[in-house]
Amino acid sequence: MKIRTGFVSNSSSSSFVVFGLHLDPNKLRQAMEEREAKIRAETLKDWKRNVTHGEGCRCSECTPPKVPEIGGWCQIAEDAGLSYLVEERVVGKSPNAMKSDETKQQFITRIARIISETFYPVDPDQVQYIEEVEFS
Ligand SMILES: [Zn+2]
Repeated sequence: MKIRTGFVSNSSSSSFVVFGLHLDPNKLRQAMEEREAKIRAETLKDWKRNVTHGEGCRCSECTPPKVPEIGGWCQIAEDAGLSYLVEERVVGKSPNAMKSDETKQQFITRIARIISETFYPVDPDQVQYIEEVEFS
């Protein structure tokens, strides 16, 4: 995110506030590859070409099923109920998403669990308060 410096009035700024973390680009890429490989394996699990047709056959029976496209990580974050910031690769949850009977530590632990299940294992200690302000 680009932040323009200089005087701006409050009315023209917007802020993004979450308890969350910056996704590591390498771990994110690996997680996405693993997700794709899993979907591919599931799609092709029960498929077999018609062995009586020979190796070069291109008929519908001998054509593997199309592997569904997986969305980008932003779509996956959104599907998991996470807020995100594309440029900074930030994922998390707004403080407003904290439940009334939840402590801050429970909230942070819940966010770490969602990120772990969605992308790659993270520790609650890695979840921090992140605020990004954009002036327009
Ligand atoms: Zn065939």
